[in-house]
Amino acid sequence: MTVWGFGQKSKAMREIVDVTVIGAGVVGLAVASEVAGKKRRVYVLEKNDTFGQETSSRNSQVIHAGLYYPPGSLKARTCVEGNRMLYAIGVRNGVAFKKLTKVVIATNEWEVGKLEALRKNGMDNGVKGLRLLSRHETKKLEPNVKAIAALFVPSTGIIDGHGLMKYFLQKAKDKGAQVVYRSKVTGIAKTNTGYWVEVQEARERFNFLTRTLINCAGLGADEVAAMPGIDITKAGYRLHYCKGEYFSVSGGKGKLVKRLVYPVPLPELAGVGIHVTLDLDGRMRLGPGVEYIKEINYKVEEKKKPFFYESVKNFLPDLALEDLEPEMAGIRPKLQGSGEKQKDFVIHHETDKGLPGLINLVGIESPGLTASPAIAKMVGNMVNEIL
Ligand SMILES: Cc1cc2nc3c(=O)[nH]c(=O)nc-3n(C[C@H](O)[C@H](O)[C@H](O)COP(=O)(O)OP(=O)(O)OC[C@H]3O[C@@H](n4cnc5c(N)ncnc54)[C@H](O)[C@@H]3O)c2cc1C
Repeated sequence: MTVWGFGQKSKAMREIVDVTVIGAGVVGLAVASEVAGKKRRVYVLEKNDTFGQETSSRNSQVIHAGLYYPPGSLKARTCVEGNRMLYAIGVRNGVAFKKLTKVVIATNEWEVGKLEALRKNGMDNGVKGLRLLSRHETKKLEPNVKAIAALFVPSTGIIDGHGLMKYFLQKAKDKGAQVVYRSKVTGIAKTNTGYWVEVQEARERFNFLTRTLINCAGLGADEVAAMPGIDITKAGYRLHYCKGEYFSVSGGKGKLVKRLVYPVPLPELAGVGIHVTLDLDGRMRLGPGVEYIKEINYKVEEKKKPFFYESVKNFLPDLALEDLEPEMAGIRPKLQGSGEKQKDFVIHHETDKGLPGLINLVGIESPGLTASPAIAKMVGNMVNEIL
């Protein structure tokens, strides 16, 4: 594909791009939709054939409330703001969503204490409407769930992730951004006025100059960050892949719950625990699991079915092992390795590393889908200060 002289090396070298976004997942597209316009020349470069082929299409599609993250962290702030923004986008632009609400359930006294801590953390983050429920109140909301108490979270919902990406893509294009597929960024070099970007297309390699560069490369964000010479180990940008598998629940059992049902997260968990989610068509699934892996692979192993079943049977006793079917998997780009403390998103303008105009987004794991419009707003402000 030849766009704007891409592929015609000499022409591309003459034209200077204002903003280049690397990656057309939900974050890259949200960022492009925010920074485009203002007579800026904006490119989005994506290595795959189309947008949203990686983590943004392999997740629970939950609009998170913002319960779990440390107050003041980027995860907390962008999640709570993104939650409000996503519902507004859904209402105004016809992106399908359902405000299903959620319960975090306790099955023993120790977990009841954790619910109170979670409620306080959520309130500190600005999550509205959190309410502790008694056994009786929980039973009334979810008759098939066995719990002695629960935390009710009214602002949790689900959204059509693909529809959301289509909305951001169209908005970016309407504002003049060019989205170029099958174009993998393979090199970045700083110049006096910006960055040379080297791109591998299907058959050829070419370069162009950009004044600002925004790295939204998801699972490849550490590799991209290393290209202009950042020591990613020293900077704390090295990613660890953490796979999350899902099992779907077939037949009538899919109607056992009416809202999202989560266990209390255990401290050592790298996720929030195997939970019960529903999609927009009301189909139920269990997941995601947590498994650190070295190489990207999306296979869901049938042999893990008993583990998923055991994880929920305590609070969903009517479920049977044979109701579960392997469904899909996603991979979290985590900044922390197995057993390490949770780390925050990196959203950083790299002036302190001598790289002005370069903004790295690294470790955008959950709640990245929820946070995407708020992240885009933040990055948009950074770009306004640069250009
Ligand atoms: C199992 C699981 C469950 C989750 N559940 C939720 C949830 O319920 N709610 C929520 O809010 N969040 C959830 N998340 C997190 C959310 O999915 C991610 O935070 C979000 O999708 C990240 O979007 P992204 O655009 O940064 O990454 P991606 O979608 O991975 O996009 C990055 C893009 O960059 C491209 N790219 C990479 N390298 C290059 C290169 N060199 N040149 C060009 N292009 C490149 C890739 O091809 C890709 O298209 C979940 C994540 C997982 C794994």
